[in-house]
Amino acid sequence: MAMIIDGKKVSARIKEEVRQEVVALKEKGVKVGLAVIIVGDDPASRVYVNNKKKACEACEIYSEEYALPAQTEEAELLELIDTLNKRNDISGILVQLPLPKHIDEKKVINSIIPEKDVDAFHPVNVGKIMIGDFDFLPCTPAGVMELIKETGIEISGKECVVIGRSNIVGKPQAMLLLHQNGTVTICHSRTKDLKEVTKRADILVAAVGIPKFVKADMVKEGAVVIDVGMDRDENGKLCGDVDFDEVVNVASAITPVPGGVGPMTIAMLMRNTLTAAKKMEN
Ligand code: NAP
Repeated sequence: MAMIIDGKKVSARIKEEVRQEVVALKEKGVKVGLAVIIVGDDPASRVYVNNKKKACEACEIYSEEYALPAQTEEAELLELIDTLNKRNDISGILVQLPLPKHIDEKKVINSIIPEKDVDAFHPVNVGKIMIGDFDFLPCTPAGVMELIKETGIEISGKECVVIGRSNIVGKPQAMLLLHQNGTVTICHSRTKDLKEVTKRADILVAAVGIPKFVKADMVKEGAVVIDVGMDRDENGKLCGDVDFDEVVNVASAITPVPGGVGPMTIAMLMRNTLTAAKKMEN
């Protein structure tokens, strides 16, 4: 039976470390602040934004929320970002995605100055990740790296397989594993004989978006399996991309859903906000 990697516990530890640094900065007169912008009333986005607000409270990070109506004009949103870009008490700016269809997501992401782009979605930050000279890591892949660290497995020289090539998870995930000297393969919907590839993995990261997609026969005995998925099963219950009940018997370590990668994403956002404030201070 695999070790269950407790994302809640690791996330609580990281948030406490962040809180202590935030308090120390405050004593020096430096404010750490996060502005979160949500446009429209998507229920999932609302839950994410509320969780981010709670995490800020736990880390004693000052937070501002801008809940804008769905019909907000793109220009109005860009103007708000411009104002936040210029404010000294706001270290990080996050625009909750997805945005309503009439707003150009790319334009909005590009309008946040890279120094405050705590999601690390701006092309400058994406490029920095590519060359391994980064200030911010994208929150979910960075959280995955922390969970892998928790297992004690050495990444260097290991076969690492990432299923999924999205810009926010799969691609940066692969890059972070590569920076740690993993031998990395990225799989996607056109990959031929997926099982043959995933079976080679010492470290398998699933970011597919299909409930219980990874079955036991796709996993090598003793592999570390990290499940990024946040899906709904046939009964509407939250589950991951990995069939946990099967794979737990094959893996040496596995993340649950919920309670695995999810809480880590927010902890890494808090860490990025702190990093942004420290860089502004310098
Ligand atoms: P995405 O943009 O939809 O990307 C999914 C990827 O999976 C694509 O690259 C796609 O390949 C690949 N894929 C789809 N079907 C496949 C198949 N049959 N075989 C192999 N690959 C296949 O999703 P995402 O944004 O990366 O998110 C992935 C999952 O992670 C979702 O469940 C999402 O909710 C979750 N997520 C969780 C967090 C968190 O904080 N825990 C954060 C972000 C995302 P193609 O490129 O060829 O289409």
